[in-house]
Amino acid sequence: MSEYGIKENIKAVEEIITAECEKCGRDRSEVTLIAVSKTKPVEMLQEAYDYGCRDFGENKVQELMDKYEVMPKDIRWHMIGHLQRNKVKYIVDKVYMIHSVDSFRLAEEISKEAVKKNVTVKILIEVNVANEASKFGTTCEEVRQLVRDIAKLPNISVQGLMTIAPFVDDEEKNRCYFQKLKKISVDIMDENSDNIVMETLSMGMTGDYRVAVSEGATCVRVGTGIFGVR
Ligand SMILES: *Cc1c(COP(=O)(O)O)cnc(C)c1O
Repeated sequence: MSEYGIKENIKAVEEIITAECEKCGRDRSEVTLIAVSKTKPVEMLQEAYDYGCRDFGENKVQELMDKYEVMPKDIRWHMIGHLQRNKVKYIVDKVYMIHSVDSFRLAEEISKEAVKKNVTVKILIEVNVANEASKFGTTCEEVRQLVRDIAKLPNISVQGLMTIAPFVDDEEKNRCYFQKLKKISVDIMDENSDNIVMETLSMGMTGDYRVAVSEGATCVRVGTGIFGVR
């Protein structure tokens, strides 16, 4: 047993992802496992890193910056939480991808700061597929136009879509939402617009990543299943 049991947890999650990929004829390399390390100390992240994990997800700007400072530089940091415009400047040159863009104004700010720092920022558009009042994200109706508008901004690259499905007791209940997000991404891809690639589908968390993989997720964001309860 490793110090925090994290290696064993990652191994178990990996096995489920691999099995699901085999079941639905996908290549395991199509799915990136993002270890969601929010609220967890760097010692735990280091254990995941030592086991081979290079993709970490954080939902707060300050915490991401603190961990960025002390952790190895080959980590890909994924910003998965709601992002305030006034904090964009701190992370545009540190994150690998921002999963939680849900408004034109936020995208404009990211673009502006990216131009200043001379970087191109990969982003996903967050869609509130289940229309939950408690969640951020654009609607299924608005997402297409939003993607088109954002794609015109400099130094920003739209890579795909992200959703946070409802908290459910049975993961099968979320299958319809993953199918819907996949369909929207295919529809947008079919438009063949400049500066829009729909290669990334970030969906699935500890409670439902198996179903998400079977519906086409290319990123799953697993926190509790790797680091334990928060
Ligand atoms: C916390 C969080 C996760 C991970 O949730 P778990 O249920 O612990 O796996 C995934 N995505 C987002 C956006 C989160 O905020």
